[in-house]
Amino acid sequence: LPNKLPHVGTTIFTVMSKLAADVGALNLAQGFPSFGADPVLLDLVNQAMRANHNQYAPMAGVPMLRDAIAQKTIDCYGVNYDPDTEITVTSGATEALFAAITAVVQTPTSGSAPDEVIVFEPAYDSYVPAVELAGGRPVYISLAPPHYAIDWAEVAAKITDRTRLIVINTPHNPTGRVWTIDDVNELARLADRHNLFVVADEVYEHITFDGRVHHSLMHHPVLRERTFMVGSFGKTFHITGWKIGYCLAPKALTEAFRKIHQFLTFSVSTPMQYALAEYLKDPEPYRSLSAFYERKRDVFLEAIAGSRLVFTPSEGTFFQNVSYAAITPERDAALAVRLTHEIGVASIPVSVFYHQKTDHQILRFCFAKDDDILREAGARLTKWS
Ligand code: PMP
Ligand code: GLN
Repeated sequence: LPNKLPHVGTTIFTVMSKLAADVGALNLAQGFPSFGADPVLLDLVNQAMRANHNQYAPMAGVPMLRDAIAQKTIDCYGVNYDPDTEITVTSGATEALFAAITAVVQTPTSGSAPDEVIVFEPAYDSYVPAVELAGGRPVYISLAPPHYAIDWAEVAAKITDRTRLIVINTPHNPTGRVWTIDDVNELARLADRHNLFVVADEVYEHITFDGRVHHSLMHHPVLRERTFMVGSFGKTFHITGWKIGYCLAPKALTEAFRKIHQFLTFSVSTPMQYALAEYLKDPEPYRSLSAFYERKRDVFLEAIAGSRLVFTPSEGTFFQNVSYAAITPERDAALAVRLTHEIGVASIPVSVFYHQKTDHQILRFCFAKDDDILREAGARLTKWS
């Protein structure tokens, strides 16, 4: 029988969403909005379909959409990417992450040591399987609550002559932490000194709170030349089910990336690409996204303010972590299941994002939900606590 990824089971998002559906719980587990997308965007898909944009898109993406992504990148970060040679539209960020990681990590030849890839944990669950399928070896840097600060001396100490790639994620899922400019500069220094590539998962690039700005790695001249920047329209326009993302990388890296992309999916839904290209002409929907989610975060935090749950307000993303250590000694994975059954609120146990299932007794709640769902979930959690 095939035995790839022997230590991997079914992703926690599938497990918890199925459980939430089975028991009729409020699903604050998997990260997706409970509310609809902008009807303007939906009408644009309809128009694109009726204009007969229904056949295969170009492998790299519909030119109009790549142009629109290039323009957005200039507007947001003041950085130029060539739509022909440096921008690729992908089937969600998931495909872009897989293609970028497998493009860089070399399969070891017999007798040679594997390429090493530095991964900060808690880590989004798709990075390490991609590293392992490419024949690489993950090297973990474990971050701890409440601040999940990166000790850059520790990172430097873990770099060897086999280190090829660092995977980073800011704003960060699951912790909601946002990188500082110092983090970016430290990474640039190490990447430059040790000739490393970087995969930057920036899918929550437009969701930061309390006046914080997102420091895209693209903005740093050293990192601009070494980084695959991965974005996703799913997070930005409330369309996680469309599975459309993008990868920005310098020409030589994009060439390597497209070699993989063309055989993973070849291309991505054509009418939706046309619709997104048109919709991106108006920057307001993504410019207003931080304020939109900051208010939702606050609705949720207000709803659990009277509980014994302990939290640091999320700095970005649409996730809030809470510590339940003052309430029960249970493991987070067991508690997430129990709360789904007993009070009808589903969450994600953060230990699943550590390779050794390190349990800091923290649950992750997604607040991309209608206000009444957030208030009801908060009320149930408060009563339970
Ligand atoms: N990276 C992170 C950090 C995510 O949270 C997600 C999805 N929630 C993805 C990648 C995958 O994005 P997509 O749905 O566009 O594949
Ligand atoms: N990224 C989403 C989350 O963190 C889920 C994506 C998925 O289900 N693959 O909840």
